[in-house]
Amino acid sequence: MEIFTTGALLSDYLKKKKNTGKTIGFIPTMGALHDGHLSLLKNAASKTDLVVCSIFVNPTQFTDPKDLENYPRPIEKDIRKLEDSPCDILFLPDVAEMYSKGEVWQIDLGDLDKILEGKIRPGHYQGVTQIVKKLFDIVKPDYAFFGQKDYQQFMVISKMVDILKLDVKLIMCSIIREPDGLAMSSRNIYLSKTERIQALVLSRALIRTKSEFDQYDISELKSNAVNAINIREGIQLEYFEICDGETLMPVSSKQPKSLVALIAARISHTRLIDNIILK
Ligand code: AMP
Repeated sequence: MEIFTTGALLSDYLKKKKNTGKTIGFIPTMGALHDGHLSLLKNAASKTDLVVCSIFVNPTQFTDPKDLENYPRPIEKDIRKLEDSPCDILFLPDVAEMYSKGEVWQIDLGDLDKILEGKIRPGHYQGVTQIVKKLFDIVKPDYAFFGQKDYQQFMVISKMVDILKLDVKLIMCSIIREPDGLAMSSRNIYLSKTERIQALVLSRALIRTKSEFDQYDISELKSNAVNAINIREGIQLEYFEICDGETLMPVSSKQPKSLVALIAARISHTRLIDNIILK
């Protein structure tokens, strides 16, 4: 695996590879890698000739400075994991490489960055689109791989790709879960033993909603899930919504072509998100 820390060198290197007919698959991450990230690398390796992974804890997408400061950065461990995975190139820039002072970025994402995660973390998706656009400009991938785990993020990036007419195909990869159902996340390491058990309420509420989908209407499905969550100790539910899978607007009927249930909750100081595709 080759490691690049500057965009210009990586860009030159990949341009030469592309000229020889190689296709490029790209997986942007913030590190603290787990099997969810590794599944994206495997997907990329099965579809493209060269797999490029980036690790960059992007300051502009954090709404809480403490969260940014405390975000795990086990870089040595991450490099070892990538060396054992189908990763050809790691891009590991620092903040000064990615941002110059006083930069502004604003893209009109309509309602998509104002609902669900966007409502609770204002500006988050502006930061996400800002960094993903910069990374796409450097890597110029044929395909970019993202997890369903961050469903809204996928929709936001798809919208940016449409608006800016970027020449990249986005692939959504399934959520990788622990054997007991908890969605893998870099933030799971913050959970104590008790909180780790309490956290199971998220995936269980989603699985229950999917299994009850044919039996109940939307408002009943929502109240069943919310009631099941609220009787549990230690969980502060931020939202549980059933939304149109494309617009992410909350629905009141099962009419839309695709439906997804999305949940966000705090367990003590740890914020977790999860989702399930219902239709
Ligand atoms: P992050 O490092 O959290 O920014 O995530 C980088 C990429 O990994 C994003 O596309 C995430 O959606 C994806 N990802 C995170 N957790 C999982 C998971 N449990 N299963 C599949 N993909 C994931």
